Amino acid sequence: MRCGGAFLLVLGTSVSLAVVPTRATGAVALTCASSATLEALVSCIRDQTPGRGSRSLVAPSFMEMSAWRSVVSAMLRGDCGFALPYSLSPLARIRPFWDAESGRGYCVLMETADWNGDGIVDRGFGAFIVDASAERELSHQVAHPIADAGTETQAVTVFKETRSRTFLLAGAHRDASPGVSGFYGSSVSSDAAHSAATMFHATHVEIAAHYGEKPWWAIQWHGMSEDTCEVVDVHLSHGVETSPTAGDKIVELRDHLRAHEPTWRIGIAGGRECSLNGTSNIQGHHLNSALNSAPTGWTHGGAAAPPSRRFVHIEQHPGFRDPDKWIAAVLATWP
Ligand SMILES: [Zn+2]
Repeated sequence: MRCGGAFLLVLGTSVSLAVVPTRATGAVALTCASSATLEALVSCIRDQTPGRGSRSLVAPSFMEMSAWRSVVSAMLRGDCGFALPYSLSPLARIRPFWDAESGRGYCVLMETADWNGDGIVDRGFGAFIVDASAERELSHQVAHPIADAGTETQAVTVFKETRSRTFLLAGAHRDASPGVSGFYGSSVSSDAAHSAATMFHATHVEIAAHYGEKPWWAIQWHGMSEDTCEVVDVHLSHGVETSPTAGDKIVELRDHLRAHEPTWRIGIAGGRECSLNGTSNIQGHHLNSALNSAPTGWTHGGAAAPPSRRFVHIEQHPGFRDPDKWIAAVLATWP
């Protein structure tokens, strides 16, 4: 697969030609109400996500993105019992979610509107889940649902079992909407790792704003095909080509993975085994560029990571996406 492939970067505010639906009766709300566990919920959401080439998705408008970010911000502060802003309320739902397996509560924001009744949500907003009583400031992110098969449930299980703060799921197949004409002639892509005009990226930016200089990490779970980077099974980077230094989190993660899965061949940025370093990933760009705005005198001691090392990009062959093989290493890397 081409997780490091060509991309479209949409700068600035997005433009929408959409007519925001009114509160008409008859629209179907795809709420996944019968899902009893986080894994079932995320599988349900994935199954109602726009697939490859399925439609021309309309990018979220500036108003919709602002509203979504305000909701994300409130969720990160532990709120869940509030009404969505008017621009989102016909399109999405927020609700507490009780996981029947772990017995713990979460807050879920997800797109639900299916105005044409085809069983697929209309806008490609995706989903965001917060654990208000989390033990780790980790954000598990799935930018390529469907395409990077299995990463959706892998990441949500790791999120759940490691008591991490957030889970973020993109709202469309990366090739659902290969490009539609925007108002100013720009092209809008549904590839959440490479398009700023997505709720996925807006959520990521709001998470980063929430933490500011406090330590946290965004772990993005990707999948590559068997014939890509054949000499490794798993490849780790920070979204940059350069080798990490000793003590770096991806070095620690590699070492803990090796300890638990000694047969795994694990590549790391800077080596020659694999070039899928996520260098075109815009969530990575966002966190890596934060280094430039870090205050002078930033210290790298203790648990705090420099901003440029907060983005963790994981590529995996199909047989290596079993969450149970990763949980112990994630726990050990972020104790
Ligand atoms: Zn990917």
